[in-house]
Amino acid sequence: MTQSIKFSFWISLLVLALASCGTGTSLPEASATHLQALTVPTSTQPSPIAPVIPTYSSENALTQAIPIQVAPTAPTAVETIPQIPDCSAGMQSTPAMTEGPYYKPDTPKRTSLVEPGMGGTPLVITGYVLTPDCQPVPGAFLDFWQADDRGVYDNAGYRMRGHQFTDENGRYYLETVLPGLYPGRTRHIHVKVQAPGGPVLTSQLFFRGEVGNQSDNIFDPALLVAIQETPQGQLGTFNFILAGY
Ligand code: FE
Repeated sequence: MTQSIKFSFWISLLVLALASCGTGTSLPEASATHLQALTVPTSTQPSPIAPVIPTYSSENALTQAIPIQVAPTAPTAVETIPQIPDCSAGMQSTPAMTEGPYYKPDTPKRTSLVEPGMGGTPLVITGYVLTPDCQPVPGAFLDFWQADDRGVYDNAGYRMRGHQFTDENGRYYLETVLPGLYPGRTRHIHVKVQAPGGPVLTSQLFFRGEVGNQSDNIFDPALLVAIQETPQGQLGTFNFILAGY
């Protein structure tokens, strides 16, 4: 009796083994099923990996509208500060310009003139304050004031007005919006610059390509801000070279 049971067991085992070898697929199917069972939970839950942001290349630029994710903040000073110019190439001191009727002293100390709800094209202007031989001036005072995007000055408060000081490398960084136009003038930003213990330079900054540059009789191309377009807005550079310092 015992011998008979053992014989039946071995026969059954042999039949099962032959069945597995005969199909040639039952083991892979079993493995696939096992893997599938392991992956089901992850496929039905949100992926922990952030969605891939599509890249923008010259190949897809003309054929596909691809949304570009832009940083929510303007470029940082470190990213945008230009190289110190080579004064041996004949750089001229920054020309003085009229103050105009809208200057107010005692402005808030701030590098950004942008306030919540303010309209206009974002604009960053950066650069150095330099001596006539192109040595950076740390701690130089800069006071900016301008019209808002509608061409209106705030003469009651300090909207679109602010002062700051250059950093230890003689650099400044201004966040603002492109000033609007008002009758009789081309687009401009007013500024006062003063090195520690030095004279005050009062001047204005201008923008290339403005129709009003031709008719504004105090426009000076030496005061043009070099502008480049970035996904965050317009990025301008201008270096102030202080005469007599
Ligand atoms: Fe003005």
